[in-house]
Amino acid sequence: MVACLAQPGMSAAAVDPLSGQSIHSTTADLVGIAPRRTGSVGGKAAADYVQKRFTGAGLDRVYVEEVTSYDWQASNAGLSVGDKRIDAFPVSHSFIPADGRAGVRSTGSDGRSAPVVDIGSGKVGDHDVRGKIVLFDLAFYLPTAGLLPLAEYIHDPDDTRFNPGVMLTANPYLTSLESTVRAAQAAGAVGFVGVLRDYFNSNRYHNEYYRKLAMTIPGMWVTKADGARMRALLPASGNRARIDLTVRRNAVVGRTVVGILDGKSRDTVMVQSHHDSVGPGAVEDATGTSEVIALANHYGRQVKRPGGHRRDKTLMFITFDTHFTGYQAHQAFVDKYITRRATPYNIVANATIEHVGKFARKTDFGRLVTTRLPEPKGVFENLNLGLKVATAQALARNNVRAATMLNATPFQLTETGIPTDASFVLLAGVPIVSLIAGPMYMYDDADTMDKVDRGQLRPVALFFRDVVDAIDTTPGSRIGLLP
Ligand SMILES: [Zn+2]
Repeated sequence: MVACLAQPGMSAAAVDPLSGQSIHSTTADLVGIAPRRTGSVGGKAAADYVQKRFTGAGLDRVYVEEVTSYDWQASNAGLSVGDKRIDAFPVSHSFIPADGRAGVRSTGSDGRSAPVVDIGSGKVGDHDVRGKIVLFDLAFYLPTAGLLPLAEYIHDPDDTRFNPGVMLTANPYLTSLESTVRAAQAAGAVGFVGVLRDYFNSNRYHNEYYRKLAMTIPGMWVTKADGARMRALLPASGNRARIDLTVRRNAVVGRTVVGILDGKSRDTVMVQSHHDSVGPGAVEDATGTSEVIALANHYGRQVKRPGGHRRDKTLMFITFDTHFTGYQAHQAFVDKYITRRATPYNIVANATIEHVGKFARKTDFGRLVTTRLPEPKGVFENLNLGLKVATAQALARNNVRAATMLNATPFQLTETGIPTDASFVLLAGVPIVSLIAGPMYMYDDADTMDKVDRGQLRPVALFFRDVVDAIDTTPGSRIGLLP
């Protein structure tokens, strides 16, 4: 039976597609073809894999939507103070052309040497940074506890909400990177070094592409300890540092895999995640992709088995690309399928699944330790009152642990949306249920299989099955809280 599970696309007649074992096996397959970077061989292999699994699930139509995105490849990276090299890692998507598109940039064989201005965790505006390298402490803005004011319901048998170590750990997504670099560039800085003050002792922090800012100057990440070492070395070197970096940015193809299971009507419920990654991407987001594949198998089998029946609503299973390179796939999808409605599908609801991981904490010495606790999960939703109750009950009944239901309705009318892949769909006016977690390791090479919260894979799948089933019996125009 185990050997059977390892065969993608095989009929899984003997295996419950929503079993933890089955979902875990899919997750391992996806990690096996990592890194699944957009436009890379691994990225293409991940899209091919999902396509094969959707086809094997018996969906009625499976196809790929292509979009242009941009990769980012760094070479010759280095950081030094005087004749001492500092262990550093280039900031993803730094040193790119101002239009954010393709091009080659290089500091050349002499590197870029400049005076360093150390702003610590202060403001760029309080310093003269023209012609200088800005050294700053990266801040992570949003601890888990910061979301509690939006809480509508909590299922937390592990009492993580009373654990300060869990609740005060901030996610690595919302940070001071964008605002600091924006101000530094505007004031004429020629480079930057970000100290990963709130991070464990790794500089393999593969930040996303923050698409509202093209970082045109070169940047380097250093650990907290290497930041201290750099600061200690600077006075003896005339406060100067040198950055070396060559960046190649190419136009590449982002591949979104779409699988349709026809219902009796064209009212359509999306079930989505993203298959691209920057490193192994076990939790981020092999787990989410595996949950989507599991649900495709579950519903595909429901229709195809003897005596099976069509559901009222059409189901659309999707794994997006370009999560780390600017969300071009997500935006193109919303434009084509929702805003312009250039397809037969009337999208009435969205379920987004991201990150089923364990909580990992940083020790006083900066070591990352994986615990047995679940990483807290937020479940953003803007459903009608009846579906809210059903969602809360489904969290408890299926034992989705450390889960907090968060009211997304206030975000529907903002420009920023919510910090999940469902944001574009939410802002386009579609009701959503979006499960998200922000573990510290999610952008790091440390996001490996041991971080997957194996015991929660099945509960999350059952939760989404129950939510999708509840939505299926609700008229398409009444799913959201707001009409
Ligand atoms: Zn993700």
